[in-house]
Amino acid sequence: MIGVSLKKKKEISLKKVEYYLDPSYVYLPIAGEDIVSITDKSVVKEGTLLGRKKNGLPILSPISGVVTWRQDEEILQIENNHEKKEYKEKNTSYTKEEFLSLIKEAGICGMGGAGFPTYLKYQNAKIHTLIVNAVECEPYITADFACIMENALFIIKTIASLMDILEIKESFIAIKAKEPLLKEKLITLTSTYPKVKVVEVPNLYPMGWEKSLVRYIKHTDYKKLPIEKGIVVSNISTIHAMGEALYKEKPLLERIVTFSGEKMKNPCNVHVKIGTKIKEILDYVEGVEENSDIIMGGPMMGKIVDLDHDVILPSTTSILALPKQNDQEEACIKCGKCTENCPSKIAPALIRENKNNPSALKRLNPNACIECGICSYICPSKIKVRDAVMEAKKERRKQ
Ligand code: SF4
Ligand code: SF4
Repeated sequence: MIGVSLKKKKEISLKKVEYYLDPSYVYLPIAGEDIVSITDKSVVKEGTLLGRKKNGLPILSPISGVVTWRQDEEILQIENNHEKKEYKEKNTSYTKEEFLSLIKEAGICGMGGAGFPTYLKYQNAKIHTLIVNAVECEPYITADFACIMENALFIIKTIASLMDILEIKESFIAIKAKEPLLKEKLITLTSTYPKVKVVEVPNLYPMGWEKSLVRYIKHTDYKKLPIEKGIVVSNISTIHAMGEALYKEKPLLERIVTFSGEKMKNPCNVHVKIGTKIKEILDYVEGVEENSDIIMGGPMMGKIVDLDHDVILPSTTSILALPKQNDQEEACIKCGKCTENCPSKIAPALIRENKNNPSALKRLNPNACIECGICSYICPSKIKVRDAVMEAKKERRKQ
């Protein structure tokens, strides 16, 4: 099995979960999306439909308040009037079509980092296996862990409901080995749900990648998507959000985000509204120390945060403050480590060398890269190999 063992550093953020659910403003990036339902200065309620994304998902207001349409920046700014909405328990008996429409209109998408619309994952062929991804294999991130600790029984009930509605035969909750607390809690709570099994997977990165999970749990492979084999993989926070839609008709308007890293003054998990400025939450959690790189996502796959503009998205798992990286790149010594350890079985160093050579790129297939970052992490010459492969991917798409 290909993968690397990383220092987990999870304990840093594992304490009481904080709440920051009443920001003064939220900001929704709307570049290229259809804004159909409002105008500038519209008064909206929490959950009001503002428009629709190209992928079919609705753009919903995370708070109640007044909209300012900042056309030049392609942003909807909503000023909070602090009016709260209550969500009551509702009917949970749905047909497959009703269920798909419900999760679509609730804006449910992948919360593990990908942001892919969930209704598209579940709409097609017959699903016989559901794999619930609770592996959270990047260091520092504990948002899923916090979500499970707060909602384990609710999540298991949701899995059982999904199995009923979609006639799924078996489901697995995948957790990392050596997580005794999580394992004990989930095994105890699933004891009355015989079709829901808890599976420990090796403590390697990128074990949370769909292909790794499908290979490890179902001993099979697929070309593009797990549904080719009747399998759907969903992140566990996404399952929780589906439960909120199923049982309360509550859309995806908030999530838990990990604020961690050696340079974060008060590492913790925080419940936040989608669209809240990251800078505002950083101030709330006491900020970061000097000389830090602030990253959205994990240290392997994340990107540097633009503090003036970046906001929490449904797919934002974490904000990390890490010691500044000043590593100087050196020449490639052709050690082959990046190729040996690439989970997609491509040749990152060769792709980097040939990133401006269309015919070589066609053969080297950079599109198979899952952007896991192992090649950069493992490179003794400190070369940002992943960035070069990502550029090659863009080039390939243009061709
Ligand atoms: S080439 Fe892509 S998939 Fe392979 S190790 Fe690098 S980032 Fe990961
Ligand atoms: S790991 Fe770094 S030095 Fe080794 S072959 Fe890959 S790019 Fe070159």
